[in-house]
Amino acid sequence: MDYTKQIQEIASKLFAENKIDYFVGCKQNGFDDNQVPFLITDPQDIPKLVFNDKSVFNLTNYLKADHTRRKRVGLVVKGCDSRSLNLLLTESQLKRENVYAIGICCEGVVNEKGEKAQNCIECVMPDAVVFDELLGTPKGRKDYIANVDLKELTEKPLVERADYFSKVFENCIRCNACRHSCPLCYCAKCCIDQETSTLYNGSNTTSSAMHALMTWSLHLAGRCVDCRNCEKACPSHLPLHLLHKQNEKVIFENFQQHLAGMEKDDRGAFYKYSLTDPDDFIL
Ligand code: SF4
Ligand code: SF4
Ligand code: SF4
Ligand code: SF4
Repeated sequence: MDYTKQIQEIASKLFAENKIDYFVGCKQNGFDDNQVPFLITDPQDIPKLVFNDKSVFNLTNYLKADHTRRKRVGLVVKGCDSRSLNLLLTESQLKRENVYAIGICCEGVVNEKGEKAQNCIECVMPDAVVFDELLGTPKGRKDYIANVDLKELTEKPLVERADYFSKVFENCIRCNACRHSCPLCYCAKCCIDQETSTLYNGSNTTSSAMHALMTWSLHLAGRCVDCRNCEKACPSHLPLHLLHKQNEKVIFENFQQHLAGMEKDDRGAFYKYSLTDPDDFIL
């Protein structure tokens, strides 16, 4: 998968026709073959843009910043990224006319070892679902499959699972990189921020980390698109996808097979109330 040339051409055209103020893409980090997000205001920077199977980041995270929120922005969205774009539009965080989305029919991205990323192996929608132009050949929606790590973990006894998660929470340093890197965490005042939180004090205990991360994952329940921006940002390399994939699975199985951001104006699982919804999983 390499759309570098096409993306450079489209970005040039958008600046030349004065259709955008910013373009958000990816560039090489300059140290190895990994990339970093790249925000351009000057068309002279366009030759630095790249897009291939190392373009791992969900760039819609850069639409929530104060300096881009009310500007005209061009950006590249893979299938998962476009689902978060759909949600940002549905949740009135953006105006559609301010965004020019180059949609990708994604063939998957690779991890540091060069292997296909786990979320790509389990991806339900590789094609962009919202876009102004689409690159590649659509492959269509795939069947939902439960996350392999979650499946393995749920087969273990409850005590072992509790021990496992104690260690996860113990290693959280409450830096909030996870929530800052999530496109769907855009609240001006966040209830889990250590400095400003009204819910949790600034202590860095395992218990406060657990409460903060559990609250965070519940705020993403029915909204997480499995882009794994949060996990890539975590300095402690915590398996945050386990929290989100568990919520996703419960919601998929109990709320009319809901998956986040798949359709325009879909406000989410909690708005899809039906009298036939099961409630036997509620404590
Ligand atoms: S999760 Fe799907 S859309 Fe997202 S990068 Fe992987 S294959 Fe592409
Ligand atoms: S990024 Fe990792 S270490 Fe930082 S708050 Fe989130 S889970 Fe904790
Ligand atoms: S919680 Fe993580 S995986 Fe889910 S949408 Fe946010 S950044 Fe992406
Ligand atoms: S964790 Fe909750 S309150 Fe904080 S930014 Fe995310 S959605 Fe908003």
